[in-house]
Amino acid sequence: MKICILGGGVTGLSVARLLDPARFTVRVLERAPVLGGLCRSSVVDGFTCDHAGGHIVFSKNKAVLDWMLDHVGRDNIVEKDRNTRIRWHHRYVPYPFENGVGHLTPEAKFDCLKGYLEAADRRERGEPCPTDFENWVLWKMGRGFAEHFMFPYNRKLWECDLSKMASAWVAGRVPDAPVDDILKAAVGLETKGYVHQAKFWFPLTGGFQALTDGIARACPHEVLTDTPCESLRRSGDGWVVNGEHYDFVVNTMPLPELAKVFEDLPGDVRGDIDALVPISLVNVLVAMKADRPLDDLSWIYLPFEDQGPANRITFYSNYSPRNAPEGHASYMAEITYRGHYDFDATKERELLQGLEHAGLVRRSDVVLTHHWHNRYAYIDQDLEFAARIARVRSWFDDSGMLTLGRFGRYEYHNSDQCIERAFQAVEQIEARARAGDRMTFEIGA
Ligand SMILES: Cc1cc2nc3c(=O)[nH]c(=O)nc-3n(C[C@H](O)[C@H](O)[C@H](O)COP(=O)(O)OP(=O)(O)OC[C@H]3O[C@@H](n4cnc5c(N)ncnc54)[C@H](O)[C@@H]3O)c2cc1C
Repeated sequence: MKICILGGGVTGLSVARLLDPARFTVRVLERAPVLGGLCRSSVVDGFTCDHAGGHIVFSKNKAVLDWMLDHVGRDNIVEKDRNTRIRWHHRYVPYPFENGVGHLTPEAKFDCLKGYLEAADRRERGEPCPTDFENWVLWKMGRGFAEHFMFPYNRKLWECDLSKMASAWVAGRVPDAPVDDILKAAVGLETKGYVHQAKFWFPLTGGFQALTDGIARACPHEVLTDTPCESLRRSGDGWVVNGEHYDFVVNTMPLPELAKVFEDLPGDVRGDIDALVPISLVNVLVAMKADRPLDDLSWIYLPFEDQGPANRITFYSNYSPRNAPEGHASYMAEITYRGHYDFDATKERELLQGLEHAGLVRRSDVVLTHHWHNRYAYIDQDLEFAARIARVRSWFDDSGMLTLGRFGRYEYHNSDQCIERAFQAVEQIEARARAGDRMTFEIGA
């Protein structure tokens, strides 16, 4: 069976890596000159940086985590303790915010506890779970937590009116804080907080891209860079990609990019894909002179406007001693946007002023900045999203080709979950091919 894989990010490369060369002839087409997609990294004047913001190697799935560590290379791994904070005005407050309530001013502590207890009372009396994110925050956490962190932070991250966002995506994303934890945190007793990802891993050299480099090195099939998919159409039981016939296609490029080249895509599916709005990200390397290491943190959230446009800062030189040259340190600053955003000299000034105001940098120490735009970074979870994407996925799963990946399926997945999906997909491709069955799929949790 001859298979074409569209896109050479972690999803496409993992599928190719896993398909048995004795049974499948596979070709990966990647538009960019370098493989890796959102996992890409570069070295700028001795500073390593990831293109799409702070990435860590982590998985709840032990088999996937082992696979990731094997492909990064066991001798090229640093193990780290996760230490994350919210920069709440000029304080570092533990994350999640509810567990950090004891670190707030007495007034803010009061607002948060009052709001939380009122919300718990309303829930107790049967107030239904709202379907929009803004009201969900008020329903779940109350007005104090909303005003002091959740609203400003999420408005900065999602760049939208939170009442236009669905609440369904929150499941498993926003950590749940039991009332006991909040009361304990408020009176100064220690709580465990967010135990997920207590440890993570990062490549010693090569940045996060060491993962996709390792997968590509072990891939037994043809992988082409600088080779965009420019046309795709059905042909009998198979497919024609860029004029060449294949028995099967696995797409991992973003759905809107696929729709541009898919010649006979039905109008209703195209309409649903056209309505999928990506949230983009500019990630900025901030490289500094440093006579001592950065605070011992992994990353921090910046909820407030006066902290500048970035919503998150990764303490990147803490991830690996090789990420910055001797006597230097580095941050990565993530700024999300919709549509168009020029990261020009004015924007750079705003960013550095904000970081200085937050007490994170002295501008005289900054030796360089460098930035990368990522058109597809986050998924807009508007109120129609769940229904729209369910229709698209279901059409593709029955179409005789497969679409996978963070934006190939529009699943809010980290790379470990992309790899998990690749395992699942390859199992189904092999089983269908062995039985000579139609290529239909059931891809899910
Ligand atoms: C801010 C941020 C933080 C993250 N943090 C983490 C983290 O800590 N840990 C983690 O594991 N994951 C993290 N992720 C998620 C991770 O980056 C993604 O899940 C993963 O990289 C997605 O891989 P993919 O292969 O599905 O998609 P992509 O990486 O988007 O790959 C798709 C590929 O298709 C190519 N392409 C596009 N058009 C064409 C065309 N016409 N022809 C051929 N090729 C084309 C693109 O160039 C790209 O290489 C984070 C993501 C973001 C945005």
